Amino acid sequence: MKKTYHIITIGCQMNISDSERIAAYLESYGFKSEPNRVKAGLVILNTCGIRQKAEDRNYGLIPEIREKNPLVKIILTGCLAERKDVRRRLDKVVDIFLPIKNLPELYRELGLVKKINKTNDYLEINPKVNSKFSVFIPIGNGCDNFCSYCVVPYARGREIYRSASDIIAEAQKFIKQGFKEIILIAQNVNSYKIKAAKADLKFFPNKKAGEEINFPELLVAAAKLTGDFWLRFFTSHPKNMSAELIAAMKNNRQICRQIHLPAQSGDDRILAAMNRKYTVKHYLSLVKALRKAIPEIGLSSDLIVGFPGETKKQFAKTEKLMRQAEYDMVYLARFSSRPGTAAAKLKDNVSAAEKQRREEALNKILSQTAWKNNQRYLNKAIKVLVQEKNKRGEWLGKNEQFVTVKILGSAKENLQGKFVRVKITEVRDFGLTGVHLSS
Ligand code: SF4
Repeated sequence: MKKTYHIITIGCQMNISDSERIAAYLESYGFKSEPNRVKAGLVILNTCGIRQKAEDRNYGLIPEIREKNPLVKIILTGCLAERKDVRRRLDKVVDIFLPIKNLPELYRELGLVKKINKTNDYLEINPKVNSKFSVFIPIGNGCDNFCSYCVVPYARGREIYRSASDIIAEAQKFIKQGFKEIILIAQNVNSYKIKAAKADLKFFPNKKAGEEINFPELLVAAAKLTGDFWLRFFTSHPKNMSAELIAAMKNNRQICRQIHLPAQSGDDRILAAMNRKYTVKHYLSLVKALRKAIPEIGLSSDLIVGFPGETKKQFAKTEKLMRQAEYDMVYLARFSSRPGTAAAKLKDNVSAAEKQRREEALNKILSQTAWKNNQRYLNKAIKVLVQEKNKRGEWLGKNEQFVTVKILGSAKENLQGKFVRVKITEVRDFGLTGVHLSS
């Protein structure tokens, strides 16, 4: 086997972050990155099973890779790695099915000799981060919530959390290296809790060993690190969102004025069928509390249209919720039945055409609220973290609220990974344009 690897990542931030750990692991065993998947000795597919469409990509891609690169070893990891039906279907073209938590044991399957002092916890592997300025730091893995439509608890297992000192030390390391954006991630950051160990007390001087450290406390400790950076976190489950977290955001300016708070539906019966464990009233009370504490907050959400049994009346309540919440961004999904989940036993009885109609209706509302929200930036100077150039050679970045900003007038300077001030001169529903003032 050639000691080169190529990783294909499909899906969410957790998969992106996991791929960075897979790369670091393989490089510690002498593998080198190969940009061309047809030439690589190892191809790793980090899969997503959240929707049928994401799953289907693998069924075309994997046989194609095998055909063009017959000597390749193919590893399938991510959401689909433990699904029995997927294993049966891809058995002949995949060499190794790797649940991500088993990454430290991969050397066995590759016939390699274990390196001494290698950790047994994959989250402790030092990632090979692709960006030079923005990094995802997983604070845990897995989920205990079993939302009825979701495969994650089956794919990743129950929640486990990293020690607070490991997380803070990792953040500190990246900030010292000049990283500008630290993004704490977990399936549900709000349920983070660990018992303080001796090593944690350095960052939590008010705690005694054995006392609990929760997510707002972890966030505040990260926000107190010294350096030129800002802090984001994903994802917050509304049932675990606390007043303490809102206060932590309000009182610490290193934390971006942004929250992703997935509502999923605007109807209580559908929320109960989804096993979300909150009501619309509770959700809206959180939105109100967030806006009161942090008026400039950017709010985004996930919403599913066409959940089994969703009537037109129930959908109208989701439209109402969207108007009330006044989102900046919503990630809309048409319900897609996932094998093994509770919702897979329900009749997927909203037609594809009706799901499309509902999605379009919500998109229309989103355009209106996002456009209205973006007016607040017009003629204002705002802080932007520059990310990349578009095809026309103009710099693009994100503001604190996670709105994309196009920056005019600095195409020749290298602004990537820098914080800059931009005066906004034009506002659209999903983007801003402005002039670069200063770095
Ligand atoms: S909170 Fe629900 S939707 Fe999110 S990962 Fe867990 S089960 Fe899936």
